[in-house]
Amino acid sequence: MYLILLGPPGSGKGTQAERLCKQLDLPHVASGDLFRDHLKRETDLGNLARSYIDKGQLVPDDATIAMIKERLSRSDCRGGTILDGFPRTQAQAEALDSFLQELGQQLTGVLFIAVPDDVLIERLSGRRICRKCQTPYHILFSPPREAQTCDLCAGDLYQRDDDQPETIKARLDVYHKQTAPLIKFYKAANLLHEVDGNMDIDQVTDTMLTIIRSLRP
Ligand code: ADP
Ligand code: ADP
Ligand code: ZN
Repeated sequence: MYLILLGPPGSGKGTQAERLCKQLDLPHVASGDLFRDHLKRETDLGNLARSYIDKGQLVPDDATIAMIKERLSRSDCRGGTILDGFPRTQAQAEALDSFLQELGQQLTGVLFIAVPDDVLIERLSGRRICRKCQTPYHILFSPPREAQTCDLCAGDLYQRDDDQPETIKARLDVYHKQTAPLIKFYKAANLLHEVDGNMDIDQVTDTMLTIIRSLRP
């Protein structure tokens, strides 16, 4: 099963991907998490990506596509994966199609998580991330059991630099200009399933699981 979670920043892609991966026993491939790992390790890719991420812009397609291809080539992705945050441009979507074709695979479906912009701003402003395992929390909507501490791995929680108000605005603009056109692209391919992301976290998960179970295996 190759599934894509498509949606604006803050729509719940990371939150839902983690739950769906557990339920469906699939690896979670999150482009943002991969970039943040490169930043931390100060690799060449990390140093290139930093200037874009800090401004809320997209990292160039070539570098992003190469990183994802490398990740999808690893053995744990052989039975499929849940892609979170990739593709984000038309060029990335086309590259993914041809790469899956090379692997003799095809996309199972695209879950588009719809959330209005004012709700996204509220979510991103209160988001906290685990430094170790990258699990997202929210100070009001999804607080950890113990303050500043990850429920899953006891890692420290921190606020991402790009979850500051000016960068949030830039990221939403980028989403509407560069990523939202993919909704039409996947609709035309008959792969798009829209989910109302403005419900409780559990309700969104249940809705998504129902859709996924109705897709071809
Ligand atoms: P994305 O990966 O799409 O950017 P996240 O999964 O990181 O989104 O969620 C963004 C923020 O909103 C996080 O702080 C998360 O805890 C919170 N959140 C996610 N889903 C919901 C929801 N259905 N209701 C309320 N808050 C949510
Ligand atoms: P969010 O969860 O808020 O949607 P991500 O963690 O997915 O954010 O991404 C953080 C940043 O990493 C993006 O603002 C962008 O700079 C970069 N990035 C992530 N995925 C991609 C991608 N597919 N193409 C280009 N840049 C990306
Ligand atoms: Zn953790």
